[in-house]
Formats: sequence, structure tokens, C-alpha cells
Amino acid sequence: MDKLFKFNPYEALKSILEITSYHTGDEFIEHTAIEIKKLFQADLVYITKAIDFNPTTKVEIIYSTNEKIPKIIDLNGIPGKFVFDNKIIKIKEDVKYNFLDLLEEKFESFYGIPISDEKQNCIGHIAIYSKKIRDLPIELDDIALIYSRKIERELRRIALEKENTIIRKQLEELTITDTLTNLYNRRYFTKVCFNIFAQVKRDFIQATLAYIDIDDFKCINDKFGHEGGDFVLKHFSEILLDESRKGIDFIFRLGGEEFCIISINTPLNFASDYLKRIMETTSNKFSKTKFGAITLSIGLVEFSKDFDSCDEILSLADKKMYKAKKEGKNSLVK
Ligand code: GH3
Ligand code: MG
Ligand code: MG
Repeated sequence: MDKLFKFNPYEALKSILEITSYHTGDEFIEHTAIEIKKLFQADLVYITKAIDFNPTTKVEIIYSTNEKIPKIIDLNGIPGKFVFDNKIIKIKEDVKYNFLDLLEEKFESFYGIPISDEKQNCIGHIAIYSKKIRDLPIELDDIALIYSRKIERELRRIALEKENTIIRKQLEELTITDTLTNLYNRRYFTKVCFNIFAQVKRDFIQATLAYIDIDDFKCINDKFGHEGGDFVLKHFSEILLDESRKGIDFIFRLGGEEFCIISINTPLNFASDYLKRIMETTSNKFSKTKFGAITLSIGLVEFSKDFDSCDEILSLADKKMYKAKKEGKNSLVK
């Protein structure tokens, strides 16, 4: 038996302080496992998270110093199982484990440390394996428990951060989305238009802007009520989305029955063909409903460096759209 286990409390505490000062997230977990391996002069260390509870039968590996360890470990028949009674387990004899085939190694000692939450529920463990039979100094228990608490705190922080990221993304989505149609809203239009214009000015891309206004929409409201009008707006938006090309056409509802499509890297004639297809599909689809054929007036403009601002581009597209109205509606002016 190897009784000459060298343990330096100063080094142990220094390593804990260093990890907590320099690392966070997955990196923190990885460095902790590596430090524990060094400190315990071990051959294999892995940190786990319980998948099921009362009793815990399976754990997920969060980090392992040996990549061959499977992602999910069944605890039945291996000493890790007893750690989930929330106590430190030390084994100084031939250690049984059920991933022998993968490692082709034999371990003679096991040191298992529970990771417990604030309510003292065991939510994971640190498993430390060594090829030697040895007596570890009792002070190592305290050090191990400090590591365990730090891991628990970091896992909690990581989970909270993930939750916050999801909430932040949902909020961002909300601020750029039109609630009735789920298209992008006017606020986002201003931002996207500004960015695209900046890229056009640097010759990075070419782009067009179409201003679309539904013809005689007031009549739809008058005939079918505001709800009927809303239905038309929603259905028309679905047609726009169905017809749009991913990463090329950006569709916005500017307000009321007015929409805008910015298409990047699409020559004016191509954009014009694409918009005429939308006019045709819209008319065909609605003519099969009680609303009857719905027509559109569209003004189409190509971005160019000659414009002073996005407002100027939008205003020109709007003027062209009004020209289409004056010329009898159901048409596109470019
Ligand atoms: P034109 O062919 O000249 O475009 O005539 P129009 O009737 O389409 O245009 P106008 O601007 O006179 O009327 C637009 C109407 O759209 C007026 C307004 O009450 C209605 N409207 C605006 N926003 C909404 C909405 O969110 N839902 C519904 N149902 N109606 C809306
Ligand atoms: Mg209008
Ligand atoms: Mg209109």
C-alpha cells in the first residue's frame, strides 16, 4: 500500500483560489477536474450530474479527464451509487465499475464526493479513481468538499445564465416582431434598412426595397369588420413569408395595410418578377375566399450610394407606390 501520499494544503488552497479567480462556466468545471486529478494524484476524475432522483440510478458526465468514459453512466453495481446517499465514499480495493471494456485499466481505489444543493440533495458527484491502493489524508475530505460546493455554485450559475439568455432572446424577438402578423415591425425595419444601406455604400451588397399597400383595404374592413380585415392581414403575411427566399428577402409590416420587402443581391428586374408573383398568388389565393381577389400597389426602388438616407429611399418607394395607385391600382411602379 502506498502510504507516502504527498499532500500540500497550501498548494491545494492556492489551486482552488486560482480556478475560482480565472475561470467560469464549462472551463471552470474542466479546470476543477484537472486540479482534483493533480491534487489527489489520481488516474481518472469525472464530474457528474444526476439524471434521475430518489434513488439516482443514472448520471450524466459533465467533464471527464478521460474521453473514453461514456456520456451517461449507469450507477448500478459501481461505488458511485453510494455517494448519492450524500456521503463521501472511499474504497481501497479492486474497484468495480461498468466501463472496464472502454478503459482497459484497473483501478484499486475510489474516492467519491457528493455534490449537494442548498437543500442537501445530492445532485451529482466527483469520482476520483487511482491505480494504486492508498490511504488519503483526512484533510483531503475538507478540500474535496470545498471543490464540491464550488462546483454546485457554478452549475447553478451556468443554469441561471442559460435561462437568462433564453429570456433575453425572447424579449429581443418581441421587440422586433409585429404582434398581429408575426412579421418584423417598423422599428426593426429602421435598423435593417440602415445596416443594408451602409453595406450598399461600401459596395458589399446590392439591394432593392418594395413598398406594398393593399388596395381598397378600407372596403374589406367595412364589409367584413375589423376582424375580417385582421384575418386578411394575417393571411397576406403568410403568403409573403411563403414566397420569401431565406436570407434574401426581409419582410416588414410598416403599419396598417402597408408592408415593405428588402431583397438583397437581387437585380431590379428579378425583384420585379418576384413581386409580380406575389401579386398573382395573393389575388389567386384570396379569390377562392369570401374576400374575393385582393390586389396590391407596389413601389420598387433599388438602393444606391446616391441616396442620402434610408428615409429618402423609403420615401421614393412610397411615391412610386402612390403613382401605382393613381394609375388605377393593382400594379407595380419601378
Ligand atoms: P387604397 O387602395 O388607396 O390604399 O385604399 P385603402 O382603403 O386600402 O387605404 P386607406 O388608407 O384609406 O385605409 C386603410 C385602412 O386600414 C384604414 C384603417 O382603418 C385600416 N387599418 C389599419 N390598421 C389596421 C389593422 O391593424 N387591422 C384592420 N383590420 N384594419 C386596419
Ligand atoms: Mg395605406
Ligand atoms: Mg391601401
